[in-house]
Amino acid sequence: MFNTVIHRLRDNFYGNNLYMKRDDLIPLYFGGNKVRKAALFFKDLADKNRDWVVTYGSISSNHCRVVANIAASKGIGCTIVSPPANDSVGFNRRLAALLGARVVTCPLEAVKETIAATLAALSDAGFQPYFIPGGGHGELGVEAYVLAYQEICAYEHDNGVFFDYIFLASGTGATQAGLVCGQLLRGDQREIIGVSIARKNPAGAQVVRDSIASYMLGRGAPPGLKRLSFVDDYVLAGYGSYNEEIITLIKAILLREGVPLDVIYTGKAFWGMRQYIRQWGITGKNILFIHTGGTPLFFDRLKEVERG
Ligand SMILES: *Cc1c(COP(=O)(O)O)cnc(C)c1O
Repeated sequence: MFNTVIHRLRDNFYGNNLYMKRDDLIPLYFGGNKVRKAALFFKDLADKNRDWVVTYGSISSNHCRVVANIAASKGIGCTIVSPPANDSVGFNRRLAALLGARVVTCPLEAVKETIAATLAALSDAGFQPYFIPGGGHGELGVEAYVLAYQEICAYEHDNGVFFDYIFLASGTGATQAGLVCGQLLRGDQREIIGVSIARKNPAGAQVVRDSIASYMLGRGAPPGLKRLSFVDDYVLAGYGSYNEEIITLIKAILLREGVPLDVIYTGKAFWGMRQYIRQWGITGKNILFIHTGGTPLFFDRLKEVERG
């Protein structure tokens, strides 16, 4: 559906050929994996004739910004339920506000009730609300990356290359689950490595496994999953935490490759990928990194990158 560009990087880290799939360059809503997922949710919303969208996400959420933008472009209302922020207001939240999204803040333990109350209030006011889980989680989110996996395979076929490894930033895990389901449905062999940016194992991997199992079940396909690589060695102190090395790497990749990365997702995962390649002595392989987007987050840390 989107068929984003794949290009080779100049850097040959430890004798590997590095490639990047540029989902950040999806030509709408500042791109990113959240556009792929949200596009399928909004199709479902239209099929069901709903007229207001409700979703959930943090202050830095790419997902919320994308949902707000698509809602604005379709002329439907948008409400974002969000936990109280412990970070300063960044570009994603500012954009969501600019796009007309209403933000309802609530404590973490009251999220479920707040979402239910928001949906009920909209129904009472005569709207037909549609709920999108945080991050675009769920089967449609998984489906989005089954389709992306097919794009990767088509690229390989057309260009006579095979990626031995696919690395990506894994958060809620729907993106990774989609790629893994794409692989299971196709039956090819390669490593798909989700670099966790927040969650620790075993819980982090379990969420991905559950997503894979329920998608495969829904397709009437055998579960098939044997091994899952959800690597939690590089989460540092959890969601949003980063270090000086990541800042330095982000600057280097911008200068050498012309590609913006951010500290929460892509920069952290790219750093984790490099650690992983070094730790496991991977060399002479074709490696694809999926740039899952988040361009506004790059600008949130521009000052630090300038100093880095
Ligand atoms: C949300 C997000 C991810 C993680 O995607 P999941 O499907 O939740 O694992 C990765 N990168 C970026 C830029 C994101 O916004």
